[in-house]
Amino acid sequence: MKELLTDAATRAIHYLETLDTRSVAPAPSAVAALKAFDEPLPEQPGDPADTLRLLDEVGSPATTAMAGRRFYGFVIGGSLPVTLAANWLAGAWDQNTGLYRPTPGTAFLEQVSLRWLLDILQLPATCGGAFVTGATVANLCGLAAARHAVLKRVGWNVEADGLFGAPPITVIIGGEAHPSVSKSLGVLGLGRTRVVKIPVDDQGRMRVDAMPPIHGPTIVCAQAGNVNTGSFDAIDEICRRARPAGAWVHVDGAFGLWAAATKTRAGLCAGMGEADSWATDAHKWLNVPYDCGLAFVRDPHALQAAMAITAEYLPTDSGFRNPADFTPELSRRARGVEVWAALRSLGRAGIADMIERNCDQARRFAAQLTAAGFTILNDVVLNQVLVSFGDAERTKQVIQGVQAEGTCWAGITVWQGRTAMRLSLSSWATTDADVDRSVAAIVRVAAGC
Ligand SMILES: *Cc1c(COP(=O)(O)O)cnc(C)c1O
Repeated sequence: MKELLTDAATRAIHYLETLDTRSVAPAPSAVAALKAFDEPLPEQPGDPADTLRLLDEVGSPATTAMAGRRFYGFVIGGSLPVTLAANWLAGAWDQNTGLYRPTPGTAFLEQVSLRWLLDILQLPATCGGAFVTGATVANLCGLAAARHAVLKRVGWNVEADGLFGAPPITVIIGGEAHPSVSKSLGVLGLGRTRVVKIPVDDQGRMRVDAMPPIHGPTIVCAQAGNVNTGSFDAIDEICRRARPAGAWVHVDGAFGLWAAATKTRAGLCAGMGEADSWATDAHKWLNVPYDCGLAFVRDPHALQAAMAITAEYLPTDSGFRNPADFTPELSRRARGVEVWAALRSLGRAGIADMIERNCDQARRFAAQLTAAGFTILNDVVLNQVLVSFGDAERTKQVIQGVQAEGTCWAGITVWQGRTAMRLSLSSWATTDADVDRSVAAIVRVAAGC
């Protein structure tokens, strides 16, 4: 066992140490070589060391260097070394962290992490929270708590009686809501399209003046950090309209919520603490390994009512908080361990620095690409940059060229009708020199298109 695990660590360290010198996208030959995995199911046991060797030799080259310094696709963080180390140790522990009593170590670490998270994200200290797989499931949790609460207020128990015959719920969302919000609404029986969609401005922010008057059970889905532009809905204004009318305000802040951890960008989160529930990711901007998302709910009992495995969701003794009473899963890995490691080792200042650094790097990208003659389509308020290289066809060619060239990786999007390269600065490992090197590569590729 010791040899095998040491071999795995050695191989993993080698992988990370050589990331900087390889193409960010896997070579086509490495992808083609994946057919080596396509063996018949072995009939007999084999040498575990041989299995690990095959995994590394065939698997490692076929990965995208998302853990590296110049991957700017989607919104994807790397893994802080301490979080990967904690992940290895917690993997060895193999704790099924659904219940407190059998797994006090990991369950307690999650409680501490949740308290620290509420502090750093400037959310009410009395919120309930849950470690889930990502912001998609965090949105699901927040909206499930919302569904419980708005129906409970009109005397309907949705967990017991379902939605058939229930008073209707009005769901208000921005025209630029993330598809994971629509998906969650669909899963919850509220309907992906049975919503009141509010028009947005040129940055994708909900036009609050276009919100209808609110009456009856209502859920408003706001957004902190548009996945294309990084823009924020005016959460304070939305809450001012919605909450006195009895509506529940849920915020999808998958990466944007982390602006609250900084001095310079916290203003984007004005009024955030007035909402009722929030979804965010730790595997994006906190740079912990996949997968880790977070749901926070102002009224912990609403989350517990929606998620507890038994209907007798008595308030749990705070010393014995069963994680499974707050999550869709029963059995689950101890996601909070990596979060705890990140927060403890970076501290408030280290986290602020990481977020600010990425925001500054987004501006650096925008300034240099503007100077090179390209068009930035968004106000760079956070960590997202949208770049047009001309018409859709040419922009597409540049993006494909950049991905094939391998210095960095950026994806494609269509923003309000215009095809754009989307750059997301989300990694702890990215340096200003990486930005400069990436810009040089992009300019070089664009010159050849
Ligand atoms: C990434 C993202 C999500 C989905 O998060 P997952 O972790 O992929 O489930 C939801 N909303 C926004 C704004 C996002 O950026």
